[in-house]
Amino acid sequence: MTTGRPTRRRPRRRAALVVLALGVVVALLAVAGVAWQFLRPPGPRPLFQLPVACGETWQLGTYPGHDDYDVDLFPKRGEAWGRPVLASSAGTVTVAGINGSLGGRTPDDPDGPRGRGGGYWVKIDHGGRWETQYLHLLEPPLVREGQRVAQGEQIGRVGSTGNSGAPHLHYEQRRGWEKVETWFDGEPSGITHDDTEYTVTRKSNNCAAERP
Ligand SMILES: [Zn+2]
Repeated sequence: MTTGRPTRRRPRRRAALVVLALGVVVALLAVAGVAWQFLRPPGPRPLFQLPVACGETWQLGTYPGHDDYDVDLFPKRGEAWGRPVLASSAGTVTVAGINGSLGGRTPDDPDGPRGRGGGYWVKIDHGGRWETQYLHLLEPPLVREGQRVAQGEQIGRVGSTGNSGAPHLHYEQRRGWEKVETWFDGEPSGITHDDTEYTVTRKSNNCAAERP
């Protein structure tokens, strides 16, 4: 015993199934795309430069309990406060904001209350799963999230916000999930462990912005 109804409904049901199947495919592609961002092998190391002005000489240091590969930068000459912080390589800003709390350390009150964490900070995605981080900036970053930056473009100024004893730039390079030894101008920095206090001195060749 049949009626006309089921045959009339069938095309509508088929259309619904097609829409559902397409939805599932789109969802699976989205999940695969996100997974690929995290699982794909890292690309080659970008030619990172020191995140400070072309031609300046800075001291790169670490100390016990800092963290392997983390680098603190202090200028060899002149005040650290307010010195330009530059992008190590071209990329896209993924974070430009406050990490932890700012505290109250400023050029007028250098021994003010200490904040927590990184204070004003910036993260840049350089593609190929390479990333750099810049902490303890003096003021809100000069860039915003999603902004493309060129190598040597100024992203902020050196300060002492967050958990910082004195004005300096805390800097990291990451490949995928991991921090790695920082490289500058094609050479490793030598800052690889934090079981003792030590420094190296490097001159910035972050000069792309200076070239015509
Ligand atoms: Zn540090």
